[in-house]
Amino acid sequence: MKWDRLTPAEQRRTQNEKLHHYFTEVIGPFSPYYKKLFAEHKIDARHIKTVDDLRRLPFTSKADLLPTSEQPEKFREFIITPDISVLKHRPRIVAEALLRGRSAVERRFEREYRPIFLTATTGRSAAPVAFTYTDYDMRNLRTAGARIIQVFGATTKMRGVNMFPYAPHLAFWQVVFAGLEFGMLLVSSGGGKVMGTEGNINLIEKIKPEAIVGIPTFVYHVIREAHAQGRKWPQVCKIVLGGEKSPQGIRRKMVSMLQEMDAGEVRVCGTYGFTEARLAWGECPTPPGEWSGYHLLTDLGIMEVIDPETGEVKGEGEPGELVYTPLDARGTVVLRYRTGDYVDGGVTWEPCPYCGRTVPRIVGKIGRASSTKELQLEKLKGTLVNFDTLQQILDDTAEVGEWQLEIRKVHDDPHDVDELILHIAPENGADVERLKEKIRTRFQTEIEMTPNRIEIHSLGDILKRIKLESSLKEVRVLDARPRE
Ligand SMILES: [Zn+2]
Repeated sequence: MKWDRLTPAEQRRTQNEKLHHYFTEVIGPFSPYYKKLFAEHKIDARHIKTVDDLRRLPFTSKADLLPTSEQPEKFREFIITPDISVLKHRPRIVAEALLRGRSAVERRFEREYRPIFLTATTGRSAAPVAFTYTDYDMRNLRTAGARIIQVFGATTKMRGVNMFPYAPHLAFWQVVFAGLEFGMLLVSSGGGKVMGTEGNINLIEKIKPEAIVGIPTFVYHVIREAHAQGRKWPQVCKIVLGGEKSPQGIRRKMVSMLQEMDAGEVRVCGTYGFTEARLAWGECPTPPGEWSGYHLLTDLGIMEVIDPETGEVKGEGEPGELVYTPLDARGTVVLRYRTGDYVDGGVTWEPCPYCGRTVPRIVGKIGRASSTKELQLEKLKGTLVNFDTLQQILDDTAEVGEWQLEIRKVHDDPHDVDELILHIAPENGADVERLKEKIRTRFQTEIEMTPNRIEIHSLGDILKRIKLESSLKEVRVLDARPRE
């Protein structure tokens, strides 16, 4: 059966069956962390039979995975660890051993359960956490990848250049395995740190890819450089972005530059994924300025939307925090994982109006759920400021080419008041005074404060400031406040 044309009822049935099987055969007996947690909460894994039953499980969050002084390797508890003495009494296994021999069964166990690969989180604040994959999981990673490429509407005859940074991060490897499974030529440059901007441009000149894949700011940077050099990329028709948010502003700018480089119709598709899910989801192509939402893969996992305050599960299309549970995973497994990502359109089961697929989609803007409490919310000049809003204002202002926010203390004195300096490289031809005024007005109305100064720079200087080429995560907000 095709994964993307099943009715919601058929998909739910598959999810319920897989969930029950997964909890009974894998999670209940073999997850050290959840075995203990379920015992504490008097939960019998075999009683989890439907997606609704998931509500009986406690959530898992980032904090549960972090090392503690008693458990410096806490993440190991989440790795599925089979108990051979349990396994070998299962009738199916006994039959398999009789039929194919013991060593063949042992070899299969190894393939199913032994971690052979990992990607790690890229937390700005916390230490990275490793998520392992077994050979079984690699198959899921490949399946997810091939399906994302289908969602993008690409064909095997197309070529792609993958500019995600080469690192043990999900984004890079999801793309690599997507290409291998789908069967298209996809060349990985390793990103700016490995090849530099010029190296990436030259690679694109050589490969002549239809699809360019990478982090929005870096893809934008490469296109802008190539555009400035007068390169022609007529074959480019797909831009695939991931790893961070890609506001419409930056998408619009990429497309208009590519069109000046002789490209025809260019479609920008976003992806959403996180290390803990060990796979990603994609948007299908839409006309500029529209979003199709991230197309979920229901046979590989369950996406819930919850109220971040009460933990209550929200209805279809209601906003809330995204919570993920895999359905068929080995290696490192987290259940009901709270992503900390808040989506304002929730998850819809309406067929996609663009591609007709019947899988549920995450729709709307995704921001940090925790932003009201921690992370993105900072006290600045005595006002609580949401950096997501701030970033949106700047990315959606067409005259802004690149930007960086710098927070300082007046006179560099830790006891003095905060000072907010906005550094901007305007687009060519922008009226700088009017731009400054526009930004001040939007800051005032949307976050109720304005920068102390707006400083204008050349594009090159801003790029150096945000370390686009030299670091994995760009420095968009520079906190230069002296520590006491
Ligand atoms: Zn679609």
